[in-house]
Amino acid sequence: MVPALQFCRTKVAITVSCAILVFTACGLPGVTATTDAGAGPSSTPWTAPQQYTMGATVASPGDVYSIDTSTPGDVVYLAGDMPLIISVPHGGSIVRGIPERKGFPGFINKNNDDATIELALDIEKGIREITRGRRPHVIINNLSRAMLDQNRGHGEDANPTTGRGGDAWKDFHERFIAAVAIPAVLKTHGSGLFIDLHGKPDGYGANIIIGYNLTTWELSNSDNHLNTGKKAYTDRSSIRFLSKKLGGKVDFAALLRGNRPGHESFGSILQSRLDVFNSTHGKKLSAVPRHDLKKPFINLSGGYNTRAYCGAKDRRFNNPYGYTTSRFMCGFQLEVSRDIRVKDARLRRKFARSVAEAIIAYIEQNLGMRIMPPE
Ligand SMILES: [Zn+2]
Repeated sequence: MVPALQFCRTKVAITVSCAILVFTACGLPGVTATTDAGAGPSSTPWTAPQQYTMGATVASPGDVYSIDTSTPGDVVYLAGDMPLIISVPHGGSIVRGIPERKGFPGFINKNNDDATIELALDIEKGIREITRGRRPHVIINNLSRAMLDQNRGHGEDANPTTGRGGDAWKDFHERFIAAVAIPAVLKTHGSGLFIDLHGKPDGYGANIIIGYNLTTWELSNSDNHLNTGKKAYTDRSSIRFLSKKLGGKVDFAALLRGNRPGHESFGSILQSRLDVFNSTHGKKLSAVPRHDLKKPFINLSGGYNTRAYCGAKDRRFNNPYGYTTSRFMCGFQLEVSRDIRVKDARLRRKFARSVAEAIIAYIEQNLGMRIMPPE
């Protein structure tokens, strides 16, 4: 989804960040597994997660777990207590002990989304501070994307299906997200928000791009076409559930990129927080799509995770695992520029606080749930 330029010492690579192509400047397709100096390693945030036994463990909010039959720390689950799940598929860096994904050169993206684990934890901390203790469910993959792509299906794009990598895929998808976090959210709250957090290169579209499983071309349509067109944009989007729920009150395009009072789109809510951040810190961060920038020239639609867990009805996507409960989940992919993620940890934390504010406001407005504590 994210064509971008990457400058290495000897080659220029055009990559599709959560997707596909890598070309070298010498004209030959190549594959890169990047490590970004200055970003710092996206190390396992917890050295000793508790063991989680499927069907037996009752997760306690704030505790960190790994599946008991897998390598501890490869995939971890930070248990939460609110109607929000944040997944971090590409932030890991562990490479030892797992075979590298092999595929036709140029068609296997191995670039890690550096510092997205740190950003997710900053957002989690921001939510805890703002709400005085409430916690999102956070699922983190600590394996490098060179070994396992957690925004792809089982076995897709040379993903391992057996061994340590195969276990990690199942831990991330079938266990922690689909069988633990989503059921926990639905049991307590009835519905919830799912955010798949990624990192994009600088200079490629807006600083923050929100993906609803709709392409740039599709977003170029008018609001009226998105609402009434025969292509069923609503059903294919990652806010299908939300649109059905609020259909009588707010139209689909308004939920996608509008600023209807009480039912603002996530892009519009986030931009209002970023405007404050920008004026305080001398930045010009922009989030799309939103009410005053509805048709971004470059859009990143989201991948496997957004489609699988946000209930999108998409004929391009055959979900063999049938995560049927996800019809009560909605959400989006959140792509954040590298500059924000890796350059200045202090500023990243302040940015994360703005994102945390926007997420809380979005859930309160559109899912109709009270997140903030009483005054
Ligand atoms: Zn990614």
